[in-house]
Amino acid sequence: MELRRPRGTQDILPKDALKWNYIEGLFKKVCKNFSYGEMRTPAFEYTELFKRGVGDTTDIVQKEMFTFDTKSNESITLKPEGTAPVVRSFIENKVYADVQPTKIFYITPCFRYERPQAGRLRAFHQFGIEVFGSDSPAIDAEVIALAMDFFDRLGLTDKLELRINSVGNINSRKNYNSILKDFLSKDLEKLCKTCQERYEKNPMRILDCKIESCNQITKNAPLMLNHLDEESRTHFESLKENLDSLNIKYTVDPLIVRGLDYYTKTAFEIVSKDIGSQSTVCGGGRYDGLINELGGPDISGVGFGLGIERLLLTLESLNLSPWQKDGLDVFIATLGEKASLEATKILHILRKNDISCDKDYLERSIKAQFKLANKRNSRFTIVIGENEIIENKVILKDMKNSTQTEIGIQNIVDEVIRLSSAK
Ligand code: ATP
Ligand code: MG
Repeated sequence: MELRRPRGTQDILPKDALKWNYIEGLFKKVCKNFSYGEMRTPAFEYTELFKRGVGDTTDIVQKEMFTFDTKSNESITLKPEGTAPVVRSFIENKVYADVQPTKIFYITPCFRYERPQAGRLRAFHQFGIEVFGSDSPAIDAEVIALAMDFFDRLGLTDKLELRINSVGNINSRKNYNSILKDFLSKDLEKLCKTCQERYEKNPMRILDCKIESCNQITKNAPLMLNHLDEESRTHFESLKENLDSLNIKYTVDPLIVRGLDYYTKTAFEIVSKDIGSQSTVCGGGRYDGLINELGGPDISGVGFGLGIERLLLTLESLNLSPWQKDGLDVFIATLGEKASLEATKILHILRKNDISCDKDYLERSIKAQFKLANKRNSRFTIVIGENEIIENKVILKDMKNSTQTEIGIQNIVDEVIRLSSAK
């Protein structure tokens, strides 16, 4: 059998790793500016965590989890998302006993059994942040601002749309659920099977159904946004005020639902206009009941998950490549065996001095070596032949300026450093 990677997975090759390293570095930098600390949790958890932490009525739990039993009959699930594990760890390690709020970021692989297509994989990656312990709408705005700052640095500000909504606090939701159920009751039979279940467990999620016939029924449904109680409305108004003061543009989209019982108040999505139907690059919101639901104290949370593959697709579709082209500092071209040996010594010294460098190992002609240096996008090329060894000096070609100088072998490190820092 031909060995292939599993459906819905991707390999990240060295040429792609450049992009990944760049955006991961940038995300970490922005998180540091906003004072978020990193958390790393295992690639798998007990299945129960996601059943309770993501919710029984969600697509993730109903259809998408990679779940298996261990040899000792424990049910394990590969992480389908980042929030529940971070909350579990926050509670288990009693991080809530430290100074609050707790501000966390993570970079994690996620696994979901979905139908693979552009922007939808079975193994993908997310950036995420979570803040625990603050009810303030200013922190919801900060969470959004962090995402927008990150996108801004990638040149995406005008290419993405921020949509916000409020799904209300628990009280508003109870009230709204019965209004929505009244509205839907006459068409209950016509809803899809999943939505019929949602009708009992969590009717608001029906608004999020992707099936057209359900959309027809919910088209004129009453909206949560029009049934917010005083507390929820004030929170939403203040969020908007905070975003305005930060000059962050948004549209209010009353159909955004993050439908679990413990999702509350703020819900938002950041959507790309350029990558077709899988267009949500970042989704987040407030979940004031989740920490308590998972056995922790009654404190609130807010955060987002950002799909890294979808972000890369967005950048690609816009021809944006903010990362530096990968390249070498120095390539050494050699003529003859002695020169090759000398080059090996020089490479070693350069590498110890943090100068990235390489040489030919396939006995190419000198012409082919120059070609290779170009292909490897080398900043400098050093040429060594028999004469150079006798005279203890080499030719250093500056590939950017097309100039060349003769330098003593013992001066190579200093010269390369000097020339790379000069314009
Ligand atoms: P969608 O509506 O596209 O299924 P979702 O609501 O399931 O998204 P979240 O659980 O909020 O997504 O995950 C946050 C982000 O992770 C998404 O906005 C998206 O960018 C990314 N994401 C989700 N599922 C996948 C997947 N199967 N492949 C690649 N990226 C994904
Ligand atoms: Mg999904």
